[in-house]
Amino acid sequence: MKITDIKTFLMHVGVPQPKAWASDNAFGNQSFSAGITGTRNWLFVKVYTDEGVVGIGECSGWPRVIETAVQDLKRILIGEDPTHIERLWQRMMSAIMVHGLTGTVGAGAMTGIDMALWDIKGKVLGVPVWNLLGGQVRDKVRIYAHANTPEAALSLKARGVTAIKCGGVSDPVRKVAALREAVGDEMDIMIDLHGPPWMTPGDAAQLARALEPYHLLFIEDPIAPDNLDGYRRIRDAAHVPLAAGERMSTLYGLRDLIERELVDVVQPDTGRAGGITQMKKIAAMAEAHHIMVAPHSGSLGPVAEYAALHLMAAIPNALFLERIEDDWDGRAHTVIPHPQQVDGFLAVPDSPGLGVDIDEDFVARFPSQANISSQVSAASGSYAPGTHDENVYVQTRLQRARHFSAKK
Ligand SMILES: [Mg+2]
Repeated sequence: MKITDIKTFLMHVGVPQPKAWASDNAFGNQSFSAGITGTRNWLFVKVYTDEGVVGIGECSGWPRVIETAVQDLKRILIGEDPTHIERLWQRMMSAIMVHGLTGTVGAGAMTGIDMALWDIKGKVLGVPVWNLLGGQVRDKVRIYAHANTPEAALSLKARGVTAIKCGGVSDPVRKVAALREAVGDEMDIMIDLHGPPWMTPGDAAQLARALEPYHLLFIEDPIAPDNLDGYRRIRDAAHVPLAAGERMSTLYGLRDLIERELVDVVQPDTGRAGGITQMKKIAAMAEAHHIMVAPHSGSLGPVAEYAALHLMAAIPNALFLERIEDDWDGRAHTVIPHPQQVDGFLAVPDSPGLGVDIDEDFVARFPSQANISSQVSAASGSYAPGTHDENVYVQTRLQRARHFSAKK
């Protein structure tokens, strides 16, 4: 069998709006309009073979740029046997190394192709991808959803969701306290403190201590991902589990975070960490350090979600899968079939390969418009009054007494 062609399918995706990632919006409930907003894109990849078997994959991590990278990689893959996945991964990694160390853009390009190769292999052998990864540890995967308000949290709880994550950095303690009071002790709560503007390690340590009484499952991305020593400082200062890793890719990119045991939960993005090939290895490295895996799914589309389900079915240390419940309603029309969460779980697919395809006609109706935006928010408490339009990557938090307190 030989690879004959690789095609990309880039689409503009609707809600959630990009500013919601760093602001205090009620992210994760039904308050979004259904229009095309923001700059979220999904990039799907199809690998074609001379035997008529077609594999599908997805790349996150700046899809509009990655589309070009996938088309560039094509020239070193045409004519190759798609079932030799590890060999082709090594070939791609070696080829892009000439451009420097690989981040989520290069790894994102490899990811979509790698995912499609696993899909092809499963289809050829007539087995689901989870079977190629060692078989099932579980036949359904727990998901968590996003809620920033008690109302959104209770709505998700009523639909069976058992874990929620609030996001943004506006009044985090007050927000977490309100959520805990609303949902009680049986629901897991997490908070994502991501920037920009990223917190300083000192601020994050102080905030982590303030959050201790609420028994969070984890605090995510308390500081910028490039400051691993800062993670050690927060760990030494507070007794709260930490999670990170969504912006890192490949075994090499996540190695220090895992081997230094700076987190309790690692969150590689199934669409940009380097493919199923790398996700399985990253999970094994985490397993050796008793670290759980909770794949990131912030900007992720529905094909990579399938890949995550196959991976999580097969690894012992899968914690749960991030999911945007009440995502843009076009999501359900983008893939066939569209998975439904039932009582807080997604069923593991049983069809050969990944068990999913895209509706190419539907995808073509939403051409990419843009894929970058400013995500800063005045609500983060990090700007002096009147200067909130400045974009600063790391900044200390002002008015700590207000932002780091549960009092109104
Ligand atoms: Mg995050």
